[in-house]
Amino acid sequence: MLLYLFVFLLGIVFGSFLNVVILRLPEGQSIVYPGSHCPKCGQKLRWWHNIPLLSWLLLKGKCAYCQESISVQYPLVELGTGALFVGIFSFEPNIYGIVSAVVFALLLALALIDLRYKAVPDSLNLTAALLALLSSPNIINNLKNALLVAGALAMLRFLVSYYVSKKEQLRLQKRIQKAPWLIHFYPRFIMIEAMGEGDVIVGFALGAMLGIQKTILAIFLAALLALPASLYFRMRRGEAELPFIPFLVLGALVAYISGDRIWEIAGV
Ligand SMILES: [Zn+2]
Repeated sequence: MLLYLFVFLLGIVFGSFLNVVILRLPEGQSIVYPGSHCPKCGQKLRWWHNIPLLSWLLLKGKCAYCQESISVQYPLVELGTGALFVGIFSFEPNIYGIVSAVVFALLLALALIDLRYKAVPDSLNLTAALLALLSSPNIINNLKNALLVAGALAMLRFLVSYYVSKKEQLRLQKRIQKAPWLIHFYPRFIMIEAMGEGDVIVGFALGAMLGIQKTILAIFLAALLALPASLYFRMRRGEAELPFIPFLVLGALVAYISGDRIWEIAGV
């Protein structure tokens, strides 16, 4: 019991670090300097303003200096990371469970950044990918699985990009045949990139941590979740591009927690 409390606290502290990462990394700011400060009034925070979860509750969600409200995202990310740590650790109550929890927490931070910015910082993504290699004792096997998934995704990305680009090129050629002067306005080569590069790196992490079978399940679940969301976004908001990493991470969580059972039910 005490061990689980320790793991929970560890998760909360890590979540507090992730808050800084989520806020600063996409803006290209350092995550160590300057120290924590109120984003509204810029006042430097004292250590007792900065205790994960507790300070937000004691300050009732307001800055101690300017009384501006502090986003509920901070305690939520901290609490969520704490719960995530306990959840993953209960499946794997050893050091590898802690490593997996850290990888999942980094991936969730990545998902939040992807939702907001539609792009993810490579530094965070690569950190998760390399750590994932240490998520179980057989590192060589983890690396093998990681390379297989990353390679397959990279190949898929090339294929889809090639197809989409060729289609666009044919469309433009037809236009140019009708109106030859348009040739000056169109690019000579068309390269449309389907899928983000970030997805390939996330695939590497998932392959290393989940193994091939569960990663396939994770990708399948992600596609299943992304499809209705993509239709919704296209119709309601007119946005064509939907970040995929959040779905991938959700699918991975489900595959990690209940992958074995799902395969059993499927009879594979
Ligand atoms: Zn303030």
